[in-house]
Amino acid sequence: MEKNKIVIANWKMNFPSLREWNNFSAPKNVDVIICPPFPYLLEVSRVIGQGPRVILGAQDMFWLEKGAFTGEVSPSMLKNSGVEYVIIGHSERRKWLGETDEMINKKILAALAAKINVILCVGEPKEVRQMGPSAAKKFVREQLKKDLIGTSNIKHQTSKIIIAYEPIWAVGTGASDSPEDSAEMARFIKSKVSFTGGSAPGGKSQKLKILYGGSITSKNAKTFLKQKDIDGALVGGASLNAIEFAKIAEIAGDL
Ligand code: PEP
Repeated sequence: MEKNKIVIANWKMNFPSLREWNNFSAPKNVDVIICPPFPYLLEVSRVIGQGPRVILGAQDMFWLEKGAFTGEVSPSMLKNSGVEYVIIGHSERRKWLGETDEMINKKILAALAAKINVILCVGEPKEVRQMGPSAAKKFVREQLKKDLIGTSNIKHQTSKIIIAYEPIWAVGTGASDSPEDSAEMARFIKSKVSFTGGSAPGGKSQKLKILYGGSITSKNAKTFLKQKDIDGALVGGASLNAIEFAKIAEIAGDL
């Protein structure tokens, strides 16, 4: 996984027909993570979790193991469903569910403790970006500082954190960031986040990986994925179509 690009499908609250996904397999040199809604995790793992490098992910998780938390799903419930990655801090959850950085931090720590890898989403709103790149960097840095409290010894863990830079104004809008600006943000994050991305088998530490997310399609994927500091893509809308998503994964594999 060290050098592979990572391409993640975030189906959000949608469930595409799985018939189209029967033949899906990850291209060489690409790790594909599929994140369906909770009730479909097992079904998805049966249909498309077969091939090498197709990995099951979840879209969220609670930070405690059990108790009176109606509607929530615990780390071990995910683990027992075959989940290896969990998206935490997606901007839609920050907006619609009022998730705070404090809650996100608890979720990250709980996921790592349960040996589930984390895909942490960060990114600035439009009004901040309009103030310029320095304001956007400051905003993202503040998010990272709060979200990652207590994770600096992650290199001793077997699970890891991947960071998805997702400018909020580019998520689900069709208005992607420029590849150069998002690569600049990816470099900035790499320069500020002090831990490595977890341990590879054998205990070797891996480099932190930064993905870009925000209106990626097969038409613009290459311009982002060819950036040296962008290690993959988090794909929402375009991941609902198996053929379109397969094209994006192939583009990642061809680089
Ligand atoms: C996302 O869900 O994280 C995302 C980036 O969505 P979209 O690709 O639709 O912008």
